[in-house]
Amino acid sequence: MTDASKQSVFDIAVIGAGPAGMTAALLFASKGFDTALVAPKVNHEDGRTTALLQASVDLLDNIGIWNELAPRAAPLSKMRMIDDTGRLIRAPETTFDSAELDLPAFGYNLLNKDLNRILEEAAVREPNLTFVHALAEGYDFDEAHATVHLARDNTISAKLVVAADGRNSPARSAAGIDVRRWDYPQVAVVLNLEHDRPHGDASTEFHTPTGPFTLVPLPGRASSLVCVVKPEQADALVALSDDLLARELETRAHSILGKFSIASKPQKFPLSGLTAKRLMGPRLALIGEAAHVFPPIGAQGLNLGLRDVASLGNILSTAKAQSKDIGAHDTLEVYEKQRFTDINSRTAAVDALNRSLLTDFLPVQFARSAGLYLADKIPPLRRFLMREGIAPGTRRKSIGAPQIKE
Ligand SMILES: Cc1cc2nc3c(=O)[nH]c(=O)nc-3n(C[C@H](O)[C@H](O)[C@H](O)COP(=O)(O)OP(=O)(O)OC[C@H]3O[C@@H](n4cnc5c(N)ncnc54)[C@H](O)[C@@H]3O)c2cc1C
Repeated sequence: MTDASKQSVFDIAVIGAGPAGMTAALLFASKGFDTALVAPKVNHEDGRTTALLQASVDLLDNIGIWNELAPRAAPLSKMRMIDDTGRLIRAPETTFDSAELDLPAFGYNLLNKDLNRILEEAAVREPNLTFVHALAEGYDFDEAHATVHLARDNTISAKLVVAADGRNSPARSAAGIDVRRWDYPQVAVVLNLEHDRPHGDASTEFHTPTGPFTLVPLPGRASSLVCVVKPEQADALVALSDDLLARELETRAHSILGKFSIASKPQKFPLSGLTAKRLMGPRLALIGEAAHVFPPIGAQGLNLGLRDVASLGNILSTAKAQSKDIGAHDTLEVYEKQRFTDINSRTAAVDALNRSLLTDFLPVQFARSAGLYLADKIPPLRRFLMREGIAPGTRRKSIGAPQIKE
């Protein structure tokens, strides 16, 4: 980290020190861009966990921090899907196994506070990165550069602003970029659990009539839980004592992991979605939740955000190698085109899965059940779905997975 006062003109100013912003700032700095990371503070209290798919692990490895994260992460080698809707048409139980793709795991689950802390420590060590501990209060996007206004009349300028300032992105609003927003009639109750039986590195997703109930392995005999229910049911769950809540959740999990005990305070997240209509503005690119918000279903949100980061990093490196302006309209248009298909297809897939659970309409229930039945019975289709789930568009058989320390 260098001192902001020594330099106020940067190649890139990344706004927001969430996981997407910190990863982006580290990647740009490692590629030789003078980078500023503008954010008041890093969140060290986030009790959630994130399941990082293999492409995200590869990116964190590229910026040199996966070695530190790996001992704190649990591999996800199997994904079980169990139809717990109790409906007339039910899907068969389906298990996806990473061994079928010659991979040790689909991804790795870890605590957000570990991820944020290790990203912050790396940002502090990185010589090309200036951590500006301030809120971005306003922007001027000019022909030649962008100006970020900070408190007490301080400013910094950059050839490009990368907005990683979250779902309500003030940078996105300042550039006049419109969004599409929607809500679901559901709330996710999220917490971490300890349990009697080993999880065997398998995540289990029960499909219930109110939404998914998903247990994802953590190191040891522990798992994170995302339990999607109606708003009034979420209120009732979080009001329970730890003992009663543990018993209720164990019943919902059909005791597959034995007795539960609550390891973190339950939190509620109302389910909603958002897609920005543009991913760029003058000297501005949107990444992470500034560009797209998902309900926490299928471990998609940050993985998609980190694919934004990897894509933008490659495009900016190419522009630099060709002595092009990294903030120019043409450069950013390549980024927007490259990312829209992925973002739109993931948004549609998560939306369809969630809505297929909520509906009582038989043809939709049949389509979901038939899809899982075919995935179970037809290995090439299953492998295709697994590859697409990890990294869309990949055809490679084996991804170089960093080894996890015991
Ligand atoms: C319950 C739950 C479970 C999830 N599980 C998974 C999972 O398993 N896998 C997965 O891939 N995704 C998961 N997600 C999604 C994932 O958590 C989000 O995609 C991710 O946290 C978004 O990161 P971000 O950096 O884009 O935004 P944020 O984490 O929201 O960071 C934005 C940052 O910008 C800062 N900021 C805002 N305004 C300004 C300003 N004016 N100036 C400077 N800084 C500013 C904020 O302080 C904040 O630090 C889950 C989400 C939920 C709700």
